[in-house]
Amino acid sequence: MKLPPLRYLAPQSLDEAIALLQEHGADAKLLSGGQSLMPMLAFRLASCSILVDLKLVPGLDGIAVSAHGVELGARVRWRDIERDTRLPIAHPLLSTAVKHIAHYAIRNRGTVGGSLAHGDPASELPALAVACDATIDVVGPAGRRSLPARDFFLSPLTTALEPNEIIVSLRLPPWPKTRSFGFQEFARRRGDFAMAGAIVFFDRDEEGHIRSPHVGAFGVADTPVRLTEAESFLLGNSVSLRMFEEAAALGVRGIEVRSDIHADTDYRKALLETLIKRALIDAAEPPGP
Ligand SMILES: Cc1cc2nc3c(=O)[nH]c(=O)nc-3n(C[C@H](O)[C@H](O)[C@H](O)COP(=O)(O)OP(=O)(O)OC[C@H]3O[C@@H](n4cnc5c(N)ncnc54)[C@H](O)[C@@H]3O)c2cc1C
Repeated sequence: MKLPPLRYLAPQSLDEAIALLQEHGADAKLLSGGQSLMPMLAFRLASCSILVDLKLVPGLDGIAVSAHGVELGARVRWRDIERDTRLPIAHPLLSTAVKHIAHYAIRNRGTVGGSLAHGDPASELPALAVACDATIDVVGPAGRRSLPARDFFLSPLTTALEPNEIIVSLRLPPWPKTRSFGFQEFARRRGDFAMAGAIVFFDRDEEGHIRSPHVGAFGVADTPVRLTEAESFLLGNSVSLRMFEEAAALGVRGIEVRSDIHADTDYRKALLETLIKRALIDAAEPPGP
């Protein structure tokens, strides 16, 4: 289908963008990479008559790496993350996850802010943000606020963003050099949205016991989720295949897994359990050089 008639506005500051959103209300939508918004408008799954493009708003396209972690501006594209030579060391999980997002052409335009605001439960970045206890910074008419990613995704395509608020950045906590991780997803074709995905990482103490285990899943529930039962089970245990199998089974048991045209609940549960187990096995390997 064709796009509806649209008026295009390109504000030059965040204040101007917020003022435009306030002025036009539901008639206006923010445009970032357009990779979700334009298809949604074309298929009439979203509607608006005004596009407020963020491309001229300064300060949204930086990637900052520091002792505080990694900060990604809202307009940072998947390609920018892939190309950044600091990130494979500063945040290897992010560098790995981004390679699974969509296809080259989409990675060239799709953005951090657009993905977070769109809130697709099968998307990699929201899941990574939840798994990593990241923080999402937003600005709006009432000023700036920071939201834990864990509280940000409310249901499919619905987030805690207030009307007229704009995401400005995503902050990921520091990634210790000794931390190991596993990232696994299953999609029918490479680049498609995942039918299910698992993100696992943990640290180890001197005796080799697991510390700070994080287990996340995506594509299986209404939002990205943390598998807290699996995390509690892993904490303090040592690494073994039997323990991983038990953790994966516990993790899947603790969440409501959805059914859709791609996979029913039982299939998705079995898939997720396998993916968690594989991610745990990957995470058992010490981090590379
Ligand atoms: C064929 C196809 C396959 C894809 N596969 C995957 C995949 O495997 N994994 C994956 O994660 N994604 C996938 N995507 C989506 C893609 O990654 C997009 O990058 C992502 O959806 C965000 O789009 P965008 O940045 O272009 O934002 P837009 O499409 O411009 O915007 C998306 C929504 O966010 C709002 N918005 C944008 N920026 C902001 C902001 N700063 N603050 C507040 N609201 C904002 C917009 O108003 C809109 O509602 C796929 C897309 C396509 C078309």
